[in-house]
Amino acid sequence: MQFNKIIGQDHLKKKLRETVKNNRVAHAQLFYGGEGVGKLPLAIAYAQFINCKDENKFINGDSCGTCPSCNKYNKLIHPDLHFVFPIAGGDESKKPISSNFLTEWRELLLQNDGYITLNDWYQKIEIERKQAVINVSECNQIIQTLNYTSYESDYKVMIIWMVEKLYYVAAPKLLKILEEPPDKTLFLLIAEHTEQIINTIMSRLLPVKIPRIDDDAITEAIKKRFNVDDPIANQVAQQANGSFTEAVSLLDQSEDRKANFDRFKDWMRMCWTFDAQGLLDFSEKVAREGRESNKSFLQFSLVAIRNSLALNYTKYAYIRIAEEERVFYENFSPFVNHLNIVMFTNEFNKAINHIERNVHSALVFFDLSLTIVKLLKMK
Ligand SMILES: [Zn+2]
Repeated sequence: MQFNKIIGQDHLKKKLRETVKNNRVAHAQLFYGGEGVGKLPLAIAYAQFINCKDENKFINGDSCGTCPSCNKYNKLIHPDLHFVFPIAGGDESKKPISSNFLTEWRELLLQNDGYITLNDWYQKIEIERKQAVINVSECNQIIQTLNYTSYESDYKVMIIWMVEKLYYVAAPKLLKILEEPPDKTLFLLIAEHTEQIINTIMSRLLPVKIPRIDDDAITEAIKKRFNVDDPIANQVAQQANGSFTEAVSLLDQSEDRKANFDRFKDWMRMCWTFDAQGLLDFSEKVAREGRESNKSFLQFSLVAIRNSLALNYTKYAYIRIAEEERVFYENFSPFVNHLNIVMFTNEFNKAINHIERNVHSALVFFDLSLTIVKLLKMK
């Protein structure tokens, strides 16, 4: 995870880079701040920057992303990058220790560029109703991991996510580790509620406040990642109160998105069954809503089609699909494939172009529908 994936926080990124440049990286730091401001991705980007082998990293202001260290950091599989996070006692077969949940952890992080909430994590490992903690055996594991693993980088990094979930019995263990840290180890602890962390542990940490993300940065990130129009991106950014995860969740719930999705679903169904009368009515109804709305719907559709193609190859990695939309995408995705994706893209772009050039919208939509009827049969 590079700094360029971090949304906003320019000032902080600069400060973190300077600690590396001036050789003043404190060995135990607490990244604290509200949900969704990017504490975890920042910690990972910071660690990656520290361990990046590229000599130009200070000039470029970022890790290179391609050296052997970065390569492993990109996939979160560097042998000297360790994670601890809250988990709950699962079944007998899986001891409740973070290292047993690394596959799920990496998957969730890579899917969301590190912007995850505690709730996302609970859902991922299906422990919604159980109280997740960082337990004693986890702390024993930390000592073992840091003492016995051979390392290939300058720093071993231990990222402890949501340290306020530390079980009180385990606190003395963690305190001891922080008091007598293994050589060349960097502890990056992450928390949202510092008042829940005991004072003796707090006193061992250099606090780094991660502020809210500014609205403009959230707007840009939303536009770039989800291909939505300015007004919607602005609106969710303003309501999100500096939290990117909140902005994404608001976007999922936004009325426009829901309406576009429902309409796209109906449209594809009519194309698939070749409901000619339905398609005629649909084209005329859509046309009455004006060009801007038509364009926005076509852009949404294009993203939906690309998501469907991606789903065939990557499952849910790198795409964000709302829970209630999954059934549709699972069913629809087999109809978008390498044979027709280029034509889909061309035809939709052509339609957007025609709408911009004031071609009668109803005609554009009906023509496009007939093309889609053909494209969906290419399997
Ligand atoms: Zn690098």
